[in-house]
Formats: sequence, C-alpha cells, structure tokens
Amino acid sequence: MKICTQNELTYTPTSAECSVAAPFNSFFRTKFLPGFGLLQDGGVRANNPLAIALKESNKIWPSAKKNDLLLSIGTGVSTSGCYSVPDASNVFCDGSIPRLIRATLSSPCMDGEQGFVEALNYLPSDTKSDIFRLNQVIDGPLPRLDDVEKISSMLDLSYSVPDHLIRTILASAFFFFELDDEPVKRHDDFLCQGSILCSRGDTNIILKQIFLEMPNAHFQTARGQNLGGIHGNDGCSLCGYYRKTVRFSVTNVDEMTSIEIANTRFSHKIGGFPKSAQELLTEQQSYAHFGRADHKVAQWPPSRVCYCSRATKRRIQFLEPSLDQKRRKV
Ligand SMILES: [Zn+2]
Repeated sequence: MKICTQNELTYTPTSAECSVAAPFNSFFRTKFLPGFGLLQDGGVRANNPLAIALKESNKIWPSAKKNDLLLSIGTGVSTSGCYSVPDASNVFCDGSIPRLIRATLSSPCMDGEQGFVEALNYLPSDTKSDIFRLNQVIDGPLPRLDDVEKISSMLDLSYSVPDHLIRTILASAFFFFELDDEPVKRHDDFLCQGSILCSRGDTNIILKQIFLEMPNAHFQTARGQNLGGIHGNDGCSLCGYYRKTVRFSVTNVDEMTSIEIANTRFSHKIGGFPKSAQELLTEQQSYAHFGRADHKVAQWPPSRVCYCSRATKRRIQFLEPSLDQKRRKV
C-alpha cells in the first residue's frame, strides 16, 4: 500500500478535488488517493459542521468553558422544501425508494439547516443565546450547484444580518478583559483591577460601529457597576492599541461575573465572560512567576505596552551588531 507524502496531501488542487466531489459524480468527480481510497465532499457526512467546530474549539481553547459566539452560515434554504401530504397513498410517492430518498435528502447529513436545528438539541440551554444561524431564504426550489445562470438573479436577493448578531460580535469578538493585579481583599468584598483590551489594532473602526449600533454605550459589570464610557482616547491614538483600565468589586474570588457593553436598551457580554476572578488568575497563570508552562509570552503581572512600543523594541534589536561582529569583539 502506498501512502501519500505530506506534500501530496497539502497540494491545494488535490485537497480541493478531494473535498468537493458530490456522491453521484454529477458535479465533480471523486478523487482517488493511494492509501486513502476514493474521497468525496465531506458535506455528505456532515453537511452542517457545528459539532465538528465545537469539538475543534474545545481542542484549541481547552480552558474555555463555553464559546463566546458560534455563527453557522448556510448556503440557502428553500421555502418549498416541505413534502406535501397527498390524499391517497401513491406507490410512486410513498414506495420504499422515494421514502428513502426523501429521508436522506432531509437528514442532517444532507440538509444543513436540519443539521443545525438537530445539533442545538445536544447543546446546553445556556449556550444557545450565543449561537446564530444565517441563511438566505429562497422562494421555490434551490438552484443546482452548477446553475451559474441563477447567480445574476440571486444578486438581487436582500441579505440581512440581525442587529442583535452585530452587537454580539462587536462586544464578544473584539473585547476581552485581563486582571492587572491580584484581587485585593477589603472589608466585605474583593477589589479587582484590570484592563479591557481590544483584540484588533483598528480600534477606531470598531468603536465607531459600537457608537452606531449602541449610542451612549458604556462598560458595566453584570451587577450594574458602571465601569465608564467607551472612548476613542482609551489607549494609543498613534497605533490604535486599546486599553481601558477598570476597577470593580466581587463578593469573593469565585463569584461568577461579567463585563458588558451596555446602554439603556441593550447589554452584551465582552469575550470570555461569565468568569470568576479566580478563573481569570488561573488562565493568566498568575502563579507562574518564573515563566509559563505553555511558554506563551503573556507575563504576570502583565506588561501593557502599545504597538508603537513593541515596534520600537523590534527596531532596537535590529540595530544591534550582527553575530559576526560580536564574535570578533570576543
Ligand atoms: Zn501606540
């Protein structure tokens, strides 16, 4: 048996041929790989990869107890997909083969929309508010995969993204919180000090969108402690690095809390919440004073420098004498 080399497997056209072939050779032909056999479109096995995505995210972020946002995107759903029930039994419609075909086509393996609905049954109810599905409703039967003439008429279809989803993405996909120090025990609570940070460098664009979607938005805790307004001047105006220092209290370090972006009408959690102060300390590896076991660069206590400062450091390293010069000096 010949096994393909890594190069053969990662060769893009080969990978594409392996992944797009429909089962009946009507669109693209299947691809035979020595050592693997005949390969075809994985959509036949898992048309909606929601379960696969959840499993993979668990591998990538093992400490995350839940996902901030899960967005499933469909390729179109027909309004006329329902089977109309006839008045009398008809062998051509109700025989075993037609029933098998209908069952297959409407099963989660072949119908992505059905796959999404059924996958939701296996998820905890408290996670469903962070799961969204976008799909284009199409009147009449769905066009064939290779019906390119339909593309021009489909361009005119309106495609809308719910405002709720936009606000959720703005809050949970771009902003997160880190402690800057260990919580301080006070008389009857703990004071947490930390930074709300943005995962992107183009903060101004994100802030503008937040002001548009949620006028007068501010940060607050789940208990309603106001953490201050959202301003463009939090951070560095030169490079777009965003950092808003905040303080809030929790009754104990195991209390589950959240930081939200909110105004009088809406509130949306930023990334990573709900979480306790103890979980934040553990995730930031505050106990690893001599270096983290996973060798990540994050330090405790965290050093907060904007992208300008990081670029300066890089330039200084570049201007150092080359290794040859150093050896000569020795
Ligand atoms: Zn900067």
